[in-house]
Amino acid sequence: MTEELFSTDAYARSCPATVAEATEGGVLLDRTVFYARGGGQPGDTGVLRWDGGEAKVTDTIKRDGHLVHVVEGLAPAPGTSVTADIDWDRRHTLMRTHTALHALSAVIFRDHDAKVTGGNMEPGVARMDFELEAIDAEFGRRVEEVLNAELASDRPVTVSFLPRAEALADPDLIRTKVNLIPESVDPIRVIEIEGLDKQADGGTHVRSTAEVGRVRVAKTENKGKAFKRMRIELA
Ligand SMILES: [Zn+2]
Repeated sequence: MTEELFSTDAYARSCPATVAEATEGGVLLDRTVFYARGGGQPGDTGVLRWDGGEAKVTDTIKRDGHLVHVVEGLAPAPGTSVTADIDWDRRHTLMRTHTALHALSAVIFRDHDAKVTGGNMEPGVARMDFELEAIDAEFGRRVEEVLNAELASDRPVTVSFLPRAEALADPDLIRTKVNLIPESVDPIRVIEIEGLDKQADGGTHVRSTAEVGRVRVAKTENKGKAFKRMRIELA
C-alpha cells in the first residue's frame, strides 16, 4: 500500500519515493504527495523525476484500491528512486476551493436547514447541490455575504482521525452520512472547520478559512423540486 502523505500534511509538495510497480496505465510508489481523484476533488498533476529521466503525471486515480500516478511517456522501472512533485499552484487552488465548499455547505445547513446532495470542483470553481425549496440571485447574494464573513473570521481547519465507533456516534458526522463509509475504514478521517463544519473526508484543505480568500456566488440554478444548484468562484 502507498503511504499517502497528503492525508496528514496537505502542504507537502514533494517527496522522495521508490517505484513499487509500473504498468502501461501508470506508476505505483511506496509513498506519495499526489492526491487521487475522489470525493469531488480532482487528482493531482505534476512530475516524477529520477536519475536520467522524468515523466509528466497527467492525473492521479484510485484503481482497485491502488493509488496510480497516470504518466505520459516512459515510466520509471520498479525499484527506481524518484522525486514526486505536484503542481502546487493547481493543488493549492483546489485546497482553497474545497475548503470553500465545506464552509458553503455549513452556512446553508445552519441558516437554511438544507442538506447537500452533490458537488464537484475544478481549480477555483465549484458547484454544490442542495435540498432547497427555492433559490434566486438575491438568495445567492445573501449567502455570499455570510460565507465571506465566515471565511474572513480565520477559523482553523484541522484534520483528525476518529475511531469508527466514535465517528458513527457523532451527531455532526451522522448528518453528513458517515454511516455510508465502507465498514473496513477505521479510523475515519475527519475535517473540522472550528465552530462551523465537521465532515468525514479524504480530501485536501487549507489550514485556515482566511487562506481561502473571497468567494463569489457566480450562479444560482433551479434544477427541480428540492434540487437547487449554486456555483461559486474564488475571487
Ligand atoms: Zn473536504
